This record gives sequence, C-alpha cells and structure tokens, in this order.
Amino acid sequence: MPTHQQASATATDHARGGITLRGVCKTYGAGEAAVHALTDIDLDIAPGELVAVLGASGSGKTTLLNVVGGIEAADSGSIVVAGQDISGSHPASLGGFRRAHVGFVFQFFNLISTLTARENVEVIMELTGRGDRRKAPELLAAVGLSDRAEHFPAQLSGGQQQRVSIARALATDPNLLLADEPTGALDVATGRGVLGLLQQTSRAGRGVVMVTHNEVAAKIADRVVRMRDGRVVSSDVNAEPADAATIRW
Ligand code: ADP
Ligand code: MG
Repeated sequence: MPTHQQASATATDHARGGITLRGVCKTYGAGEAAVHALTDIDLDIAPGELVAVLGASGSGKTTLLNVVGGIEAADSGSIVVAGQDISGSHPASLGGFRRAHVGFVFQFFNLISTLTARENVEVIMELTGRGDRRKAPELLAAVGLSDRAEHFPAQLSGGQQQRVSIARALATDPNLLLADEPTGALDVATGRGVLGLLQQTSRAGRGVVMVTHNEVAAKIADRVVRMRDGRVVSSDVNAEPADAATIRW
C-alpha cells in the first residue's frame, strides 16, 4: 500500500514538472574530436523547485537544459520530465511534449524583431494552440511591461526584452520553465528583476531550472546543481533561499 501511494504521488509530482535523469550521456562528434558534453548524469528535481545549475563555460549546462526540454536527444540514459518518459525520443517527435510542458527563456531573448512585444507573446500561443491570445496584455503586465506592449524589440532595453521572453515562455502555462543564462546579458538591477520573476514563477508552483555561471544568482534557488566537465558534481538543497530583491553582485 505505501508503495502504491508513493508511486501515485510520484506520477502527480511529475505531472507538475518534476525531473528524473538516470545515466544520461551526450557526446558531440566522434573519435579524436569527441566532446563528452554530458557523462552519466543522475539528477532528481522535485516539482515546483527553483533550481540553479552552476558551472564554468563548456561544463554542459546548456546541453543539460536542451536534453531536459526535448530540443536535443541524449545518446543514452533515462529522462522523465513532467511524467513523460522522453528517453530515446527524437526532438522532432517531441513537439507535443514541449507544447504541453516546457517554456524556454534563451540567453539572447530570441524575440521576433518585426513583431511587437504583444505579438511576440501572441505568436507562441497561436503556434502551440495553447493559451488565450487575449491574455497577452495580462502576461506583459505581470512582467511589468504594460506600457511597452506595442513596442518592437529594437525599442526595448535588454532587460525589457528578457521580460518579454519570460512572458512568452509563460504564455502556454508550462509546468516547467527552462532558462539559459537569463541574466547573462543584463545589468545587476535588471538581472535582479528577472530573477524575481523566476522566483515568482516557481512560487506559483511551476518548476524552474535556471542555468547560470553567477554564484550570487544561485542564492535564490531551492536547489543548487553544480556541473564540471559534463558531470553533475553536487546537487544540494539550499536551506535558506534568498529573496531575489535582496541579492547583489
Ligand atoms: P555550457 O552551457 O556549460 O557552456 P554546453 O552545454 O554549451 O556548455 O557545451 C558543453 C560542451 O559541448 C562544450 O565543450 C561545447 O563546446 C560542446 N558542444 C556544445 N554544443 C555542441 C555542438 N552542437 N557540437 C559540438 N560540440 C558542442
Ligand atoms: Mg551554455
């Protein structure tokens, strides 16, 4: 009986954005040129956890995020995200998985330059068939951009563009928000605002995985995962996550 309860709890947890990786490997290239981007990764992330993945450049952070989000295939190992086993699935076949579960925030925003902030948010809802495009203004208001909805990316600061990209990632109401160096291109004050949004997203019950090389940004996380040379070298619960508004670097 306890076993059964545990099993169903796990299924529910995963449905809200939990992640379990076992023995995940990914190598780019072959022979002399082979790069072992991920080696034997075991990782458990609870649903709703705000996770910071720290590591030097080239340690495998982006590859980890891409494999979890189903935009790159691992070579081997088991990957279960939001209750779905995506091990061995080709990214081209994972559109449904991504639409149902995952929002991406990219380091350099990746907004469409010919669309306004509002249209950038709307277009993802149209493409995925998820979310109500009439909610775009509300999503932009939530990231503090009500007065910038009709601006084009070129008319927005870096921080404002990153906030549009967060509104876009949240537009489909994903279980899991994956953010790759979301503050990498931002000044401290703007970066703090973006971290605040990620923390708010996590507190609303979504899983958030943030890749960063900024030790200070990681202070807001519930769990800190450290990578080195394609391996997870530690995964620790942070007993006292800092409030994003209070951190400085
Ligand atoms: P990080 O995000 O921590 O900087 P990455 O996950 O981007 O690290 O890269 C891990 C390693 O894999 C690096 O050595 C990088 O050069 C290599 N790599 C990443 N993507 C590719 C690719 N598409 N082809 C070949 N090598 C790659
Ligand atoms: Mg990277």
